[in-house]
Amino acid sequence: MSERHRRPYNDVTELVGWTPLVRLNRVVDDVRTPVYGKCEFMNPGGSVKDRIGRAIIEEAEEEGRLRPGGTVVEATSGNTGLALAMAASLKGYRCVFTLPDKMSVEKRKLLRAFGAEVVVTPSDVPPDHPDHYTNQAERLASEIPGAVLANQFYNGANPRAHYGTTGPELWQQTEGRITHFFAGAGTGGTLSGTGRYLKERNGKIQVVGVDPVGSVIAPFFRSGTMPEGSTYLVEGLGSDKIPGTLDLGVVDDYVTVTDAQAFRMTRRLTREEGLFVGGSAGLIVHAAVERARELDDPDALVVAILCDWGERYLSKVFDEDWLAEKGIHLDDGEDDGSGVDDGAGAQSAGARA
Ligand code: PMP
Repeated sequence: MSERHRRPYNDVTELVGWTPLVRLNRVVDDVRTPVYGKCEFMNPGGSVKDRIGRAIIEEAEEEGRLRPGGTVVEATSGNTGLALAMAASLKGYRCVFTLPDKMSVEKRKLLRAFGAEVVVTPSDVPPDHPDHYTNQAERLASEIPGAVLANQFYNGANPRAHYGTTGPELWQQTEGRITHFFAGAGTGGTLSGTGRYLKERNGKIQVVGVDPVGSVIAPFFRSGTMPEGSTYLVEGLGSDKIPGTLDLGVVDDYVTVTDAQAFRMTRRLTREEGLFVGGSAGLIVHAAVERARELDDPDALVVAILCDWGERYLSKVFDEDWLAEKGIHLDDGEDDGSGVDDGAGAQSAGARA
């Protein structure tokens, strides 16, 4: 057993960060390049977003926008809401969150378990539609007296939290030997904040974004023009617009992965590594392992973010009936055509469901 937590903490928010870096042994097959997972699911709220929850609330307090009795409003795919609710619970703030209906029912229940009010919004509306979860959150924040919008997609406190924590942790945990950093962008906070820190330490470190097929970020990164997005099943990353908190200037490469590839790797991580993670971690690890295979370099050091805890997807990626319903076939071992490539490949039928 490694020695940890030798001293007591004052409250749960002090447990955020300094997540372990764990080598992936079996899902890499015979690849020689070392690949490590950063275990963000070990944050107390079970996700990478714990890092920004406290930071956003404290900044709003310092700026005088959030006062006792106030309300925190946010558009969230679930994890940011949970992180905000956890931090808010210590201070007695009310939380109101908008959550797209594609997000798992576990997340909805989790947010309510933390005392948050959840407004479920349609997933299949364009970003400029009044019912889009970001627009509904903005409206609620303006209507509720004393409310602040956490605004994770435009709030500089989000990437700053990763610049100040995730980046330095990875630099120290790898003793400066990290060569490749893989993350996906929901808001881009993890990718840009961590990426910027690592690049400042060593400009040769490759920062690689990973997108689900259907998200607009990777195509925009490659072409500079905004494509039409389409629906995909992986939760928490990818986007139908370019978030303000995403700085593509620190990104060297952006690759795409299908839902089926992501889910296959998610399940392998659990069954072969004992790492119980959500679909976005599977998506990122799939891309990281592919690159590690291409590199074939024992001196490289590839890190993939393991964004959140798998239990909130028991009704999805870990449910055979749900996968079948969505047309995702995992056991054929076959690639479904799109791969980690130029993003132009075929999309699985389920990804459009
Ligand atoms: N994976 C999951 C499961 C998430 O909830 C999020 C955040 N929405 C991300 C990845 C992406 O993190 P970021 O917002 O920092 O880009």
